[in-house]
Order: sequence, then structure tokens, then C-alpha cells
Amino acid sequence: MPLKTSDEFVQSLADLDLQIYLFGDKVEDWVNHPVIRPSINCIAMTYELARQPEYEDLMLATSHLTGEKVNRFTHIHQSTEDLVKKVKMQRLLGQKTGSCFQRCVGMDAINALYSVTYECDEARGTGYHARFKDYVKFLQENDLVADGAMTDPKGDRSLPPHQQADPDMYVHVVERRDDGIVVRGAKAHQTGACNSHEIIVMPTIAMREGDEDFAVSFSCPADAPGVFYIYGRQSCDTRKLEGNELDVGNAQFGGQEALMVFDDVFVPWERVYLCGEVEFAGALVERFAGFHRQSYGGCKSGVGDVLIGAAAVAAEMNGVQKASHIKDKLIEMTHLNETLYSCGVACSAEGSRMPAGNYQIDMLLANVCKQNVTRFPYEIARLAEDIAGGLMVTMPSAQDLADEKIGPIVEKFLAGQCDTPTIDRLRVLRLVENLTLGTAAVGYRTESMHGAGSPQAQRIMIARQSNMDHKKELAKALAGVGKPWDKTAVKKPTATTAG
Ligand code: SF4
Ligand code: FE
Repeated sequence: MPLKTSDEFVQSLADLDLQIYLFGDKVEDWVNHPVIRPSINCIAMTYELARQPEYEDLMLATSHLTGEKVNRFTHIHQSTEDLVKKVKMQRLLGQKTGSCFQRCVGMDAINALYSVTYECDEARGTGYHARFKDYVKFLQENDLVADGAMTDPKGDRSLPPHQQADPDMYVHVVERRDDGIVVRGAKAHQTGACNSHEIIVMPTIAMREGDEDFAVSFSCPADAPGVFYIYGRQSCDTRKLEGNELDVGNAQFGGQEALMVFDDVFVPWERVYLCGEVEFAGALVERFAGFHRQSYGGCKSGVGDVLIGAAAVAAEMNGVQKASHIKDKLIEMTHLNETLYSCGVACSAEGSRMPAGNYQIDMLLANVCKQNVTRFPYEIARLAEDIAGGLMVTMPSAQDLADEKIGPIVEKFLAGQCDTPTIDRLRVLRLVENLTLGTAAVGYRTESMHGAGSPQAQRIMIARQSNMDHKKELAKALAGVGKPWDKTAVKKPTATTAG
């Protein structure tokens, strides 16, 4: 099947039988819902750019399973070059959408499962890898979006899954049948969940004996019976219901997070990729998180480009672009943004081949990448707000600007640099607001903190990967620690050497 057009993608979503709840109502026409549609447009862009020859090198890859060109979002990385191109593709999409474009979670899930299923088969004689390869082929051949679902609600964090008062706090197997398993539970804050054709579920933490029912990975159609979604709110989301593009800031694009519930969902064995092998849950979590921490070096720097550009334009529209402190703030924002990107590229370039044959990022550098992401977008946003000025959060509405009596007054007093139409100044300030405080801030700010794991999760991985013993050996060798010491050889400085 050829690559889908963006329209075909939207139609294929509309053809699903998704169970979505938003503001207490079941949503029937989700592809045209004003709150949801901008997030669909983001994923549609991953289809759109894949059909444009100038982006083919980044957006497409040759499948090692079929030999055909596939969308890179469904590709299993075959080299460090593939890993670098992935980050470049994500930066491009961040630039084009100014938002989280959601499709990466599925890409990161298939790449993590690819190696883990192989290693599980090697160790335990299971048959997961071959069936998982079939599944990846299915995604590639049908050009599908898969949602990588990892984060369980987790309940009491001090207790392992099997000791939770409510076992549904972690997705778990409630029945094993000849033809498959039945699962129950939920996955929280799932990016792009309602914009996906398929869901790939993975465990959320390392597990141990007793947790066998929770060490489960599988995939199912997004509209499988028993799966439903409760749509997550975003700051200023109801502005999308007002029908005024100006007040949204970025009316075309937006992110999406939802609570995904599994109410006794049946999964046939051919779609099960881990079931009871507790010792592989940790590796799956680490690898998925590692790939997604790499991803942030691309997507956040792409969105950062838009924010830096918006701040620079806002400065011009205020007539302050030549002020040295403004120039310096833009330099600082650029420095921080390129540092994020550098880490994404570095962990890709330093990637290595796994026993399964696919390529994985350097784990230490991927975790450093994400740790930076928990900080730098906040500073970039702070500087953007500084440059934008207070009007960004005090300006009147589109209705006021359009009003016959009030409009001309708003236009007069909110004018900036004289060549700039007031409406354009307001548009840019609303974009900064959208990226720093509005719907896109979910993806650019708070998700930078908690997405792909909260900061402490990276610090644990950094500690584990830092190879401190090697560093200590380096220091000891240069200091001569442990060498015999001959006191008698100690010399006092002579008059010549001292003076
Ligand atoms: Fe992709 Fe970034 Fe969104 Fe994650 S946060 S899905 S990496 S765009
Ligand atoms: Fe994310």
C-alpha cells in the first residue's frame, strides 16, 4: 500500500470506532471537533511532509523488513545515520507545527520492543520477536500511527504493582485463554492516543517476582472493544471553541493527551510481546525512555526555533531589536536551544548496534539530553516572555478588536513600531502566549519536565551510566595513587628554582 496522503490519514481516523469523552460528553465527530482537530493536523503533517520530495530523505526510510520506502515514524533504525535523521525529522516537524506532533511515541515503542523481544526469545525461548516483526510490517505496509503507551496511573508509588490496593493501577492480565489474553487497567497522559490507529502497551517500571501479570506488552487497534479515552484538558483549550483564531495563537496545530482505559480488552496471542517475563520489563522501560529522551532533542528544539523567532519578531514590532540586551537574550535562547539539539544528535551519532540488529542511542547522552530539556525550555520561555512584554497576557480579545466602537481604540493604543499593523503584533504575541502558557505549553513546558520520565528518572540513569569507576581510575592514574613513595627522594627547592 502506498504512503497515505494527509487527507487519507484523517479519513482513516474518522473511520475508526473510537470511544472518546471530552467535557463529560462522548465525542462522535472527533476529526472535526475544534479542540481535537489541531492535534490531528499535527500528525497529518507527518504524512504531508513525507510526500514532499525536499523532505524525503528525512521523512522516509527503507524498511529492512520489506525493502520498501516507509514513513520514518514506522521504521526500525538500521544505523546511527538513521538515528540522526530521526532527530532532524523531529526538529523539522517542531518547526512546522510549533507543537507536539505525537507520532514519535509509536516509533520509540517499536524500536524498544524490537530489541527486547529478540533478547527475551534468546533467554527464555519465547516466540515474541517474529510476531513483533510481523506487526511492524503491518504498521509499515498500512502507513499507520501507533501510540506507545507506557505510563500507568501507579497508585501508591511505594508499592510494587502486585501489592497495590487496586490492581488496576497497573495494566495487567486478568485472564489467559487459548487464543489470547484479557487485560485491564489504564495508561495516563497518553500523547496522541485518540489520533492513533493502533496502541502499543508496555510496562511502566522494572518488575520482579510476583508482578508477572503486570509484565505485559501487547498491541491492539485503538478502537478495540473495551478501550476508551478521556481527553485531557490543556490551558486555554476552550478558546478553540470560540472560533477566533487570533486568540488561540496557533489555531492550526496542537498537542493531545488522554487517559486511556482498558476495560477487559481481549488481545490475541499474535499481538502479545511480553507476558510474565518480569526480568525484561525494566529493559523495555529503559529503552523506550531512552529513545523518547533522544526524541526531545529534536522536537523541543524545533518548537524552540518557533519561539525564538516569535520573540525576535515581537522585538522588531516593538522597535527594540537593536537594543543590546534584546540581542543578547536572543543569543542566549539560541545557545540553549542548540544545546538541546546537540545532545539529541550526539546520543544518535554515538548509538550502537543491538544483538537484534537494530540501532540504539547512547543511553547516557540520551538521558543528559532529556535532563537539559527539563530546564532549558523554561529559560527560553522566560526570555521569550521577557522580550514579548506584558501585553502578551493583558491584551483584549479578538471580539474587542473587531468591535465597531472599541476596535479602533484597541488598534490605536496597541500599535507598536509604525510599519506594523496592530493585528500582526497581536498575532505574534498570541503565538508566544500559546507556546509559553497556552495549549502548546503542555508540549513545550510541562511535558519537557515530565514527558519521557521526570527529571529524577534521568538522574538515576545518568548515575548508572556514568561509569564512575573509570573516571576514578583516570584520576588515580594521573595522581599516582597507590604508587610506592620514596620519602628520601623528596627535594627542597634550591635558591635558583625558588627564585
Ligand atoms: Fe514527539 Fe516530542 Fe511529542 Fe514526544 S513530545 S511525541 S517526541 S513531538
Ligand atoms: Fe512526550
